[in-house]
Amino acid sequence: MKSIPISTAFLILLFFSFSCADRKKDWSQKTEITKWPNDKNGAVSITYDDGIINQFTIAKPIMDSLGLPGTFFIITGKVEGSAKGKFIGRDQNTIIAETATLKTDSTNFFERASLIAFTGNTEAEEYHANVGSLYEAGKVQEAYQLLDEGYEKIRNGRMRDTDDVVFHNNPVDSTTWEQYKSYAKQGHEISSHTVTHPRLAVLDDANMLFELEQSKADLARFMGEAATFSAEGPYGTENERVMEYAHKIYPALRNRMPEDWLDEINRGSKSLPGNSTNEYVQWQRGALSTTGIDQMKAWTDTVIAHDNIWLVLVIHGVEDYGWEPLKREELTQYFADLKGNEDSLWIATFGDVTKYIRERKAAKIRSTLEGNKISITLNSDLDSKVYNVPLTFKTYLPDDWNGANLIKKEGNNLLEVMSDSGGKYVFCSIPISEGKIQLAKV
Ligand SMILES: [Zn+2]
Repeated sequence: MKSIPISTAFLILLFFSFSCADRKKDWSQKTEITKWPNDKNGAVSITYDDGIINQFTIAKPIMDSLGLPGTFFIITGKVEGSAKGKFIGRDQNTIIAETATLKTDSTNFFERASLIAFTGNTEAEEYHANVGSLYEAGKVQEAYQLLDEGYEKIRNGRMRDTDDVVFHNNPVDSTTWEQYKSYAKQGHEISSHTVTHPRLAVLDDANMLFELEQSKADLARFMGEAATFSAEGPYGTENERVMEYAHKIYPALRNRMPEDWLDEINRGSKSLPGNSTNEYVQWQRGALSTTGIDQMKAWTDTVIAHDNIWLVLVIHGVEDYGWEPLKREELTQYFADLKGNEDSLWIATFGDVTKYIRERKAAKIRSTLEGNKISITLNSDLDSKVYNVPLTFKTYLPDDWNGANLIKKEGNNLLEVMSDSGGKYVFCSIPISEGKIQLAKV
């Protein structure tokens, strides 16, 4: 047998090493996680505050008939079986007696503002809420004066005594934990709106923490951990002291979500989301009795016309009950319109949208093409037990592939092939716990 000259052997070696390198190609530039699941244009979360009964008896059934999930921020102290609201601190009568001789100032303000809602008077809760409103508006002296006025009435027995703590705009609510559990099973998110719906910004630390932590504890006990992800501090507070505490207790607050890659437009702001160049914009809109269906549909159109908007609708009353109620007919029309736009819109709970965008931002992906396989590996520092919303991967296919199968233990899954200016591509949905996926040539 004729021996191969060394130079030829070298060439053969060189050929093989090149072809090996050629066989494993970096495919990362051809793979991305889409901004929204299934490459939709934007997201919509329908959120309800205060656990008002008509939300569950009127609005939720309309959503259920269309398969739309909602997020309900409930006042846990109202639900039978959970901890009721209470004042934590010094003896109540001592504090009330002190108000006769000592004017309210910065040293006693939070204690007195915390207590007044628990003095057993109907009007006292209103004093608490109005004092909080003044304080958050920066009118601190007026807040002190109003508190003094309230305590003077209490000392003189000039407030109606009901022996009960009155909850915000919602005296009757009969929804049970069993019902809430069944709503969560249907795909709705049940979340915290504190124990008693206080003005958190004027509570002292102990009372504020009780409202946040006890509400979370009851949601965990009756609903499970999934219900402890999102929360809304009452009255849409953005108070910094409240936010500092609340962010440590709940991963997602509708009040504030400070992230570099997210612009926040709150309910009171007139800023337009279309002016934001940030990667994501959370656009909160309060749907009120006077808003009207045309305005609500225009919000949807705005989301569809861009690629970075997350519309968060805030609804309170329904039909004839609760603050700023929306009519049944209005909700029926609006939800049907949303459903009709589902090709462009991802309609998901507040918690799920938060999870998706955080998962996407935290994901480190690497993709390779080897032979007839594309492999994608995903690394993330997030806890995959909590962050469990599947991410959508978009991967372009090599020119000689007609399609792709997602390789799965239980059997391959043929993916739908689409194309754009970049070529043929497929989508696949993967939870971050999976870590690695493979596509096979078809
Ligand atoms: Zn509320």
